[in-house]
Amino acid sequence: MPQIVLQPCSDPQAQANLKKTMLQQISSQTILDQATDMDLSCRSYFERHPAVTIWGVKEKQGRPKVQWERMKKGDLVLFYAAGSFILIGTVDFKFTSPKLADYLWHEDGVSPEFSYKFLYVIKNPIPLYTDSFKSLSGGIASGPLFRKAQVGGEGLRDDGVVMGITVVSDSGAQKLISSSPTLQNYQQSFSGKRQKRIDFTDPKLEEQLEGLISTGLLKAGDVLRISKYRIEQGELRESMIRGREIVSCCICGEEFPATSIVTAHIKKRSRCSPSEMRDTNVVAPMCYLGCDHLFEHGYIVVGSDGIVKINREAKASGLKTRIKAVSGLSCLGINNNNTKYYAWHRKFHSQMIII
Ligand SMILES: [Zn+2]
Repeated sequence: MPQIVLQPCSDPQAQANLKKTMLQQISSQTILDQATDMDLSCRSYFERHPAVTIWGVKEKQGRPKVQWERMKKGDLVLFYAAGSFILIGTVDFKFTSPKLADYLWHEDGVSPEFSYKFLYVIKNPIPLYTDSFKSLSGGIASGPLFRKAQVGGEGLRDDGVVMGITVVSDSGAQKLISSSPTLQNYQQSFSGKRQKRIDFTDPKLEEQLEGLISTGLLKAGDVLRISKYRIEQGELRESMIRGREIVSCCICGEEFPATSIVTAHIKKRSRCSPSEMRDTNVVAPMCYLGCDHLFEHGYIVVGSDGIVKINREAKASGLKTRIKAVSGLSCLGINNNNTKYYAWHRKFHSQMIII
């Protein structure tokens, strides 16, 4: 049973920190370069994870440090601001580094020793609010949750205000989880024996999530939808990349590092049935440097003979050159299971031959 860490982040400094290191990932190389005072045994964690989301707490009369010490791998963290929990994640790793904390969240006139040096890495962070970058609102209202879970006896205030970092264990944590469908959904999606994996190496996945978050399409408490989406994308990608470091783009045939290869939907995901969404044949590896764009916008299609064809003429010379370069090539990886999706793509874009 995980504990629940309530992590306040209401003040402007904390919200700036949240945007910097929780809503986006920090490369582990940066961490290895900056955290020169980190215990040497911690370095291998960052060598295994290319990028992480990270948070830190200050010492302040010893209390936050004591709470930080109680935190364990697998605990759920709820970030609190102005009456709501706005982001949920899972503790994955703890370490200390005043130098890194000062580098990530520098405060003028505060020496690194008094910085947010008690650090923790959070995996699977899911924002719960609607209006992400402007005002951090929405999420799970803390007051009603605490009252429903009857956690007053566990030292939590009935009005839901979280004053400092608080680790809720045992019965308190259990009561909170069983009183919130959002927490249950999150736990079911991200825990259990067979850990679901989210692959962040797809350059487009991050882009799409950013889009979802910044346009406000993400509704408060909509953890399940977004986490399922991430898992589904991760599984499709895993089946496509199969652990390879170098992957060929199926359109131009050129080799690329996996981080430059997009999990491209041959049939638009928004038009797929639930079973098609999970079909590993619905995606194909296309390069981020061009073919994915040409295919997604219908400039090119793949014919029933498996040959890449020009579908829309372009006026701009740059685009024209790219389209011409792939026209006539054989599309890689065509098989009986994905031809129907290429046919759908041809038909979908056939109305657009006008230009
Ligand atoms: Zn390509």
